[in-house]
Amino acid sequence: MYSIVIVEDEPAIREELALLLENQGYRPICITSFDTVPRQILDQKPDLILLDLGLPGRDGMALCADIRRLSRVPIIFVTSRDSSADELRALSLGGDDYITKPYNIPVLLARIKAVLRRAGGPAESDVLETGKLVLHLTRGTASAEGRSVELTRNELKILAYLMSHAGQIVSRADLIDALWDSQIYIDDNTLSVNMTRLRAKLEDIGLSGFIKTRRGMGYQL
Ligand code: CA
Repeated sequence: MYSIVIVEDEPAIREELALLLENQGYRPICITSFDTVPRQILDQKPDLILLDLGLPGRDGMALCADIRRLSRVPIIFVTSRDSSADELRALSLGGDDYITKPYNIPVLLARIKAVLRRAGGPAESDVLETGKLVLHLTRGTASAEGRSVELTRNELKILAYLMSHAGQIVSRADLIDALWDSQIYIDDNTLSVNMTRLRAKLEDIGLSGFIKTRRGMGYQL
């Protein structure tokens, strides 16, 4: 899962961004004190930073320059200033992209996706955790309390999707979308078969009933 640090001093915008990112399957990390920011940010090992320009104390551009001395982590400026001079300066200081407030949500998400794609895979660990369950994405295994089971590619995708939406109801259509790739056609029946196998494997590691069925709506962890 990609983690995205939000550096924004207006609580309403910060919380709105965090919720938006969480709903998209990202892990948002909000910075709420602005004195030791570069260190705080890099300690989180983020995959991307959304950086406000107007901050208390040092502004976003100075911060960007500080971060760039220590790390190549992608940075997108999110700001209410919109002069092209500011934009140019932000990008020359090492920002990867620039978006103005009030931002258009689909545009912001598309920029985030593009910057993350250019940067390659998640910088952090490839491990997802929900309750007792630990999912190792590159190893393709699910573990709980010392027991481990190997998953197929589809089982892994289903579980990763559910885990990055833990607590939410995920529809069958969402899962079919998450499973879809250009080579293999995924239908409703394929999903059912995979779900049954996945639940049996989770039961083997002591997690029976881990994936709940929400009748008429989908699934939920
Ligand atoms: Ca601000």
